[in-house]
Amino acid sequence: MAKHHHDHSEHAGETLVEAARTALTGAGEQWTGMRSDVFEELARHERPASAYDIAENLSKTRGKRVAPNSVYRILDLFVSNNLAMRVESANAYLANSHPGCTHDCIFLVCDECGEATHVDNDDISKAVRGVAQGADFKPERPIIEIRGLCAGCR
Ligand SMILES: [Zn+2]
Ligand SMILES: [Zn+2]
Ligand SMILES: [Zn+2]
Repeated sequence: MAKHHHDHSEHAGETLVEAARTALTGAGEQWTGMRSDVFEELARHERPASAYDIAENLSKTRGKRVAPNSVYRILDLFVSNNLAMRVESANAYLANSHPGCTHDCIFLVCDECGEATHVDNDDISKAVRGVAQGADFKPERPIIEIRGLCAGCR
């Protein structure tokens, strides 16, 4: 389903954390203990997680209160460095399984169970960016989400 013309690798588990760390430090940012904890917590979620969910879980595992605001800031940093993706219609985040390369991911969000998977199709995202450019608008971040039912919920 994914269409790629480059060396694209999707990661999971430990190799995903490693790929995220490499991407962030490669961008000149520090991989602090807190950032690492937030990323690992995010990566554990198969469904999009809110900053509030992550803060709540981290407060438990770290044994002291973690403010949702500090989680928000870290998630923002992750999004701007391609480590995480924001699922707008769910107001939540997903770990980016391909932190090593940039795509305008297309999210498939299940209305029943909330699961969000994603596909990459650069032809479609290029066309969407082209529509904006054609209207004299500079596209920064196309958001393409499809709501529906996943295979498990049909
Ligand atoms: Zn790729
Ligand atoms: Zn993608
Ligand atoms: Zn579902």
